[in-house]
Amino acid sequence: MYEVDMTIVGGGLVGASIAWGLARSGINPLVLDGDDLDLRASRANFGLVWVQGKGLHAPHYALWSDASAKVWPTMTKALSDDSGIDVGLRQAGAYTFALSEEELEAVREDMESIALETNGRAPHFDVLNRQQTLERVPGLGPDVVGSIYCSADGHANALRLFHALHTAMQKKGAAYRSNHRVQTIEPTTEGFILKGHGFSVISRRVVLAAGLENERLAPMVGLSCPLKCSKGQILVTEKSQTALPCLSA
Ligand SMILES: Cc1cc2nc3c(=O)[nH]c(=O)nc-3n(C[C@H](O)[C@H](O)[C@H](O)COP(=O)(O)OP(=O)(O)OC[C@H]3O[C@@H](n4cnc5c(N)ncnc54)[C@H](O)[C@@H]3O)c2cc1C
Repeated sequence: MYEVDMTIVGGGLVGASIAWGLARSGINPLVLDGDDLDLRASRANFGLVWVQGKGLHAPHYALWSDASAKVWPTMTKALSDDSGIDVGLRQAGAYTFALSEEELEAVREDMESIALETNGRAPHFDVLNRQQTLERVPGLGPDVVGSIYCSADGHANALRLFHALHTAMQKKGAAYRSNHRVQTIEPTTEGFILKGHGFSVISRRVVLAAGLENERLAPMVGLSCPLKCSKGQILVTEKSQTALPCLSA
């Protein structure tokens, strides 16, 4: 049996981020990851570093989202230093477009609630009518009636971010094993015994970062992680040329 100090179950954005952070602090974790048939949000997301609309009726989450967006420039600089990969962070503000007056009103109400619930500490936003939106984002289709603009929003290149985290964590000393799906975790006095097909590991500490699989794994260590799965379909490509230029904020 393989013996380690720290094991991270799951090598998605969460597992890889934790592994990179630990490796930077001198703890070299073992990352056991699943396979390509797993449901893996980290390989198929939009890369938005988004703040507006987050934390309705959860002001701590609204402020947390804002605070974490603010540390992205420092984080991506460190990531670029460790991986050599530029993740394409852009934080020039962003728009939520509305296709009906009712939709625009509903989003405005949510944003105003967030502002109230955070005592005005959530980032400022502008409600723009169609003409104001068109002046800033020429080329919009006829169905857009207006938008909400928030200067705190931005995005990164999701595929590069994932690649950078995996590169950085391994360069810094994390050991990564793909196709190592953990089937069982057994707590013992010596540590946790993790078993899968063809391997078993004893680890003093374990981080569960297996995405939706945390629901199955958590009870094995006395935790509860109720998750609800909602399935959709997206097409993953490299980013295209800018289609809607943003002229001014
Ligand atoms: C369509 C879509 C768009 C999104 N857009 C954004 C966005 O723009 N901005 C944003 O911030 N968030 C976005 N998200 C959310 C974000 O992608 C997820 O919150 C994030 O990727 C979750 O990462 P994770 O590491 O927890 O999970 P996952 O990506 O699911 O990774 C879990 C990993 O664990 C592995 N695993 C599973 N079971 C086991 C096991 N038993 N043993 C070992 N390994 C296991 C899997 O193989 C996988 O690699 C989006 C999500 C979706 C679905």
